[in-house]
Amino acid sequence: MLKAGIVGLPNVGKSTLFNALVANAKADAANFPFCTIEPNVGLVSVPDERLKVLAELSKSEKILPTRVEFVDIAGLVKGAAQGEGLGNKFLANIREVDAIVHVVRCFDDDDIIHVSGSVSPTRDIETIDLELALADLSQVEKRLTRLKKQKSNQKEEQEEISILEKFTIQLNKGMPVRYLQLTEEERVLIKPLELLTLKPVIYAANVSEDDLSSENDWVQEVRNFASNSHAKVIVVSAQVESELIEISDEEKLEFLNALGVSEGGLKLLIKAVYDLLGLRTYLTTGPKETRAWTIYAGMKAPQAAGVIHSDFERGFIRAETISYKDLVFCKNITLAKEKGLVRSEGKDYVVQEGDVILFRFNV
Ligand code: GDP
Repeated sequence: MLKAGIVGLPNVGKSTLFNALVANAKADAANFPFCTIEPNVGLVSVPDERLKVLAELSKSEKILPTRVEFVDIAGLVKGAAQGEGLGNKFLANIREVDAIVHVVRCFDDDDIIHVSGSVSPTRDIETIDLELALADLSQVEKRLTRLKKQKSNQKEEQEEISILEKFTIQLNKGMPVRYLQLTEEERVLIKPLELLTLKPVIYAANVSEDDLSSENDWVQEVRNFASNSHAKVIVVSAQVESELIEISDEEKLEFLNALGVSEGGLKLLIKAVYDLLGLRTYLTTGPKETRAWTIYAGMKAPQAAGVIHSDFERGFIRAETISYKDLVFCKNITLAKEKGLVRSEGKDYVVQEGDVILFRFNV
C-alpha cells in the first residue's frame, strides 16, 4: 500500500492532524479492526460520496471505503540531517513514504511555542526543505564517490554521474531536487536512492478555527511559495478536525455552520493525497456491500481484479463494467443492461476512475 508521510516543524499540528485522520477511519473500525498499525502509522479511509449513493441503489448492508496509509513523522527539527533531535531515524522514516504532506503552521497561539519564535510559513518550509536537502546531499555524495571510484565506462553509470552532479548543485543551495526537470529515464536511474526531496509534496496550511472560512496572510504566503513549484495547498484546521471527532453528526453541522464552512479540510486533504499518489478508484456494489478499491492509473482489468483477490486475476474472464454516472442515471443494473450501458470488457481494458465492475472469473 502506498504511504504518505506527515512532516513539519514541531508544534505545527502534525499529531493533531494525524489523530484526526485515524479517528475518522475508526468509524469503520468494525470492518477494519486495525486503523492504527503502529502509534505513528494509520490507515485512513478515503472519503467517497459515490459509495452511499450506490449502497442505496443496491440496498447494501455495508459500505467499505478504500484506504491509504499515513505516517506521522515527528522529530524533524533544524539540524536533523546532522543527527539533531531524533535525526536520522526520522529521515529514514521519510525515505519509505511515497508522498509528503508538509504541515505548515498558519495559526497564532501564545500558549503554543513556535520553535523559531514566530509564525513564518516561508521560513518554516525552507527550514524543513534544507534538512531534507542536506540528508539527500549526503546520500548523493556517497553514491557519486562510489560511482567515480568504479571508473566504469558504461553509459548508464556516466548518465547517473551527470544527474547526481546536477543534484549536488541544487542540494547545496538547499533546494529540493523535485524542482528540476527530469526525464522518465533519469527518474528510473536515480529511483534506488529514494531521495527525500524528490517525493511529491502537498502543503497543509494549518489554521485556527476562525481562519477556516477566510484565508489569512500566512495561508497566502504558503500559496505563493507552493505555486512556484506547482504544489497543491490544502487549508485545514487540525484543531477543528480534532473537535469534530468528539461530537454527533448534528452538532458537527452546527459547529461548522457557525464557522462558516462545510468541513474542516481533512476530507479535501485525504483526496488530494490520493490524487498525488497517482491512485484511482473503481467500485463494486451488491446487497452485501458497496466497496471502493484502489488501483494505479493505467491498470488493466485483470490486475484490478487481483486487488480484490489473486484468484480473480488468475481466473479472469471478463469485467462487466458500467460507469458510476450511467448506473446512477439508470438506477438499476437490469435497466442499464437493457440500454446497452453495461460493457463486457476483456483483459486489455484499462479500468477507469469510477467504473462499477462485476468480475467474471474461473475458479
Ligand atoms: P506537532 O508537534 O506538529 O505534532 O504538533 P501537535 O499536533 O502536537 O500540536 C501542538 C500543539 O498545537 C497542541 O497543543 C495542539 O492542540 C495545538 N494545535 C494544533 N493545531 C492547532 C490550531 O489549528 N490552532 C491552535 N490554536 N492550536 C493548534
